[in-house]
Amino acid sequence: MAAGWPPQRHTSLASLNPRGGEGELRARACSATARSGAGDAAAERARPGLRVGAAPPAAGAAAAKEERIVVLETENAALHLKLAEYQGLAGRSTHEVLQLYSAHGEQQKLQRRSVVTQLHGAIKRFKQDLKSLRSFAFELSKKFQRQSQTYLYQILTAVQGIQLQNEAMQIFQIKAFDLEQSLQEVTERYEKEKQKRRALHNSLVELRGNIRVHCRIRPLLPFDTTGHSISQDRQRTFSEKVAHAADDETVLVKCSRPGHTSINKTFQFERVYNASESQDTVFADVAPLLTSLLDGYNVCIMAYGQTGSGKTYTMLGPQLEENFPFSTEDESELGIIPRATQEVFRLISEKPSGSYWVEVSVVEVYNNEIFDLLAKDSCGKVFGVKRDVVTTREGKSDVPLLTHETVENASEVLHLVSKSLQLRVRHPTLVHAHSSRSHLVVTLTITTVDSGENFGTSWEEEQTSQRLNKEVSCTFPQKMRDNKSTSSSRPSSPAQLEATEKMKQVKTRLQLVDLAGSECVGMSGVTGAALRETSFINRSLSALADVLGAIAEQRSHVPYRNSKLTHLLQDSVGGDAKLLVMLCISPDQKYLTESMQSLGFGTRARQVQRGQVKKKNFPVPSKAK
Ligand code: ADP
Ligand code: MG
Repeated sequence: MAAGWPPQRHTSLASLNPRGGEGELRARACSATARSGAGDAAAERARPGLRVGAAPPAAGAAAAKEERIVVLETENAALHLKLAEYQGLAGRSTHEVLQLYSAHGEQQKLQRRSVVTQLHGAIKRFKQDLKSLRSFAFELSKKFQRQSQTYLYQILTAVQGIQLQNEAMQIFQIKAFDLEQSLQEVTERYEKEKQKRRALHNSLVELRGNIRVHCRIRPLLPFDTTGHSISQDRQRTFSEKVAHAADDETVLVKCSRPGHTSINKTFQFERVYNASESQDTVFADVAPLLTSLLDGYNVCIMAYGQTGSGKTYTMLGPQLEENFPFSTEDESELGIIPRATQEVFRLISEKPSGSYWVEVSVVEVYNNEIFDLLAKDSCGKVFGVKRDVVTTREGKSDVPLLTHETVENASEVLHLVSKSLQLRVRHPTLVHAHSSRSHLVVTLTITTVDSGENFGTSWEEEQTSQRLNKEVSCTFPQKMRDNKSTSSSRPSSPAQLEATEKMKQVKTRLQLVDLAGSECVGMSGVTGAALRETSFINRSLSALADVLGAIAEQRSHVPYRNSKLTHLLQDSVGGDAKLLVMLCISPDQKYLTESMQSLGFGTRARQVQRGQVKKKNFPVPSKAK
């Protein structure tokens, strides 16, 4: 503001003291104005003088100069006034600025103070946080220390536990080793005991006789009274029980004829079953023979008796309408064939796996012909094919081309037997509508791979093994290799099969025979073809009696070949086999003749004395199947 305004004299004063400067200026302006007023009056006075007369030139120039000075002083005063005004304004502005400045300073101070206060608060909070953090960290470290101590303790305990366990393990290992040793000793002792058991069992079986005859008297049944007989003199409308089991070894038969006093006849057998004795009881006496079978002996169990006397019931079980005898609904009714089959597989399961094979064949001897009941046609349907029985070079009987099915369990056997039973030739006789007119022979062939464990080492068995060692290894039938090998009794790998092929094989046979009825022709009232059947049946049963007689008399020639039946059973009834004949007796008076004939057959068979049976100890060459 002052910059645009040059008079130096006053500017320096104003800058030193604005207020003082302003007053000075105002005073100067007033004096200038006063002087201007005086100048004006002088000018006024000069003008009339001029106008009145002419003044001298020097006085005029001085007056003009004076005038000019007054004007300039006036102007100067006015300017001073203005300057003072501006200086006042400037002073005020400066004051305001100073006021604003101080207000701003105050505000800044306040702001700073509040920031400082805030900062203080924050620092305080921060300090508190820090404090709590410190205490938290302290707690945490204490906790961590505590926990680490606990864990350390646990680890130490666990380590100690492991050490203890290790020690215990070592003790157990020592104990296990001791146990293993004692187990080995026990096993060795067990093996010795087993051999002794075998020897004892065999002696027991021998004491009982290698041909045993048991007799079963069936109960009186409804068809005994309603049954039709052709012979009028024999026909009765009531039943009279004439055959009884006096005790479990004696049969008592009351023989009476019209006009004669009745005589009681007794027959002794190894075992006699009365009418109330169950299938279970009958089988319990049969089962020991099966142990002999796995000990290496051929076994034959046959049911002998007239039609309707209970042979099929005893061998198979009660036959249902649809001719399926192995109803599993009532297992207590099952006969010897299903039970023996189950027992054989049970015994095999106790032996080392892969050491036994079981094959089954089912044949029927009808009208002195052998029919293979497992042979299948090109469509795989079972139909009876005629086969022949021959004697091999070793003097054994064999049926070439006979179907042998490899089986893995009892139910497979029973399924095959059931199927073949559908083919069994039957003809309803007058005695019983379900009479079987053929002999049924179910054969289980058990092949034993002799690794030296399956047979004992008694003197006799040593002889056996010496003989076995001389034998040439034989191979398994191809059929057996082709079969799926899931059984525990088969090798599980080709290598195992190959290895076992090189071993010796021993074959033993279990023949289970349901013979055809032994009744007299006149009794059953058959004629024509049926009469021919009966004649064949009777001839084959006579041949059986002759064979047993020849063996009893130790004749050099035993007429096995007189009948296909005896030829087929040659290895099971003669030589080294164990035979059980189950005589089946109808207790009724009207079958007295047949019952007596059966009891006579049994008595003769019982008298057969043979030398000590030899164990089945030769490897059988594989047969073409
Ligand atoms: P077989 O075969 O000797 O001709 P079966 O076995 O067919 O005679 O028996 C003839 C009938 O007698 C069948 O109905 C059979 O169920 C019955 N039977 C045989 N023995 C007994 C027995 N011990 N208990 C009950 N029923 C029997
Ligand atoms: Mg029968």
